[in-house]
Amino acid sequence: MISPVDIIQRKRDGGEHSREELTAFIEAFMNGKVVDYQMSAWLMAALLKGLTLDETLALTDALLESGRRLDLTVLGRRVVDKHSTGGVGDKVTMVLGPLVASGGAVFGKMSGRGLGHTGGTIDKLESIPGFRTTVGAGDFVRQLGEIGICVAGQSPDLAPADKRLYALRDVTATVESNPLIAASIISKKLAGGAGAVVLDIKVGSGSFFKTKGHAHGVAHLMREVGARRGLAVEAIMTSMEQPLGHAVGNALEVLEAVETLKGNGPADLVEVVVALATRLLVLADLDWDAHKAEAEARRALVDGSALAKFREWVKAQGGDASFVDDPALMPVAGETTDVPASHEGYVVSVDALTVGKAVTGLGAGRTTKEDVIDPGVGAVVHAKVGDRVEAGESLATVYGNTEKSARAAAAAFAGAIAIGDHEVKPLSPLVTM
Ligand code: URA
Repeated sequence: MISPVDIIQRKRDGGEHSREELTAFIEAFMNGKVVDYQMSAWLMAALLKGLTLDETLALTDALLESGRRLDLTVLGRRVVDKHSTGGVGDKVTMVLGPLVASGGAVFGKMSGRGLGHTGGTIDKLESIPGFRTTVGAGDFVRQLGEIGICVAGQSPDLAPADKRLYALRDVTATVESNPLIAASIISKKLAGGAGAVVLDIKVGSGSFFKTKGHAHGVAHLMREVGARRGLAVEAIMTSMEQPLGHAVGNALEVLEAVETLKGNGPADLVEVVVALATRLLVLADLDWDAHKAEAEARRALVDGSALAKFREWVKAQGGDASFVDDPALMPVAGETTDVPASHEGYVVSVDALTVGKAVTGLGAGRTTKEDVIDPGVGAVVHAKVGDRVEAGESLATVYGNTEKSARAAAAAFAGAIAIGDHEVKPLSPLVTM
């Protein structure tokens, strides 16, 4: 292999790597022959100079080949998966998974933990008493065969090179590169054995894709990389200008997901879930067209079938589903503080990033990988862009473990929600180009 310095230099100067060169570079990184600071320098060069499609494919393959690949063909079914690029109040998987499984599709997902201001599905599920997110490969496959749904933490032996690369990118400002993102996500999806993936690409202040153009570019690239490797990839763009739904924080989001499965979900969450479910049900091996898929998705949200599948899923992973009928069984923090509107008017913005950071500050998220999550803290944000509010009306209710932390978060919320004098159009949860 040519020296790591020569490889870094080639990318720094805008050159193109051969497949062999990139493969050897990733292998050498995993063997300790390329050290973290050299990989970091290469990542920054790749972010600044870009990667060609061939380089992106070679990197995807190298990340995939760094570990095991789950074989789901034994199921004789096409397994569908969904991936969100990360948002605030994003409890979609907990509604979508049981919804598509109740329609007969097989939904298998390896999911991440939250880092930074965004929450992760695994942390949310772990707020359910007894729920197990560590699931061995054999059990993952067995559960998919038995009930059509399993959501587990990312297995450390699938695409381990991506895990190490991502940890470096997170602390070297090299996350926001379309080819690096595409290689990272698609390698993990291929390793997890999915046959089709629908991506929920968040756009807006609470996402790391701030513009439609950036989100569209990454969606296009992921479709292309997936297609070249036999993975059907579809993408929708959804708004992360304001939190999705109302609840932000682990246990609170589980409760909102259950309300949605009971047919009482907030309109924006329902629209995002239905849009994703429609695509997943079409991509699954059910032979449904989009019209039937959407009708079935809407029906399953109100007739109790998706809720029944949710209970089955929670039990299969060791959880106690009694909280579905008695929400008081969820560990929600007891110290509440309301955030009153300072004057009457219309809600102009609810800054998702500030909300996410305030809830992380309460203990719902991590600022380092070692932080321990507090499942009960968070907020219910009542205000949505376009709402008419009266002076003193509660814009949000903060749930903390101490009066001091709840008050501090409430102050941050007050700064996150802007009220103006003129009528404002509600934000559409689905973003079109
Ligand atoms: N999520 C991932 O898994 N990888 C990225 O590179 C970005 C978001």
